[in-house]
Amino acid sequence: MNLPRIVENSPFARAARFKLGAGNVAMVLGRSIHLSGVTREEFLRDPFWVAHEMEHIRQYEQHGRLGFLVRYLLGWARHGYYHIPFEVEARAAAERNAHLYAAGRPLPTPAQRHPSPKQ
Ligand SMILES: [Zn+2]
Repeated sequence: MNLPRIVENSPFARAARFKLGAGNVAMVLGRSIHLSGVTREEFLRDPFWVAHEMEHIRQYEQHGRLGFLVRYLLGWARHGYYHIPFEVEARAAAERNAHLYAAGRPLPTPAQRHPSPKQ
């Protein structure tokens, strides 16, 4: 699998983590995945989570850095985090594409998966 750059202990991801009240966060900035509260190994062990973030990278590439950020923040203001259209798309992509990132292992069960922040 061809993965983008992964940044551990990212201050940007830490800020998002506190904003969302989440124990751990992965977020896409440009073509990199930024992590806070989770190691690279733990992140890569959840192919649903990887597929979710890969969809954000695709959205970034489709809309450009500014286009993505503006749409993302407008979606947040209008719909709340959980219903941001990019997040809805990313959750659907996670279900569709997790098998691409499973590296031959069985897919994790719902209990083993990283939960999406709900607010
Ligand atoms: Zn997301």
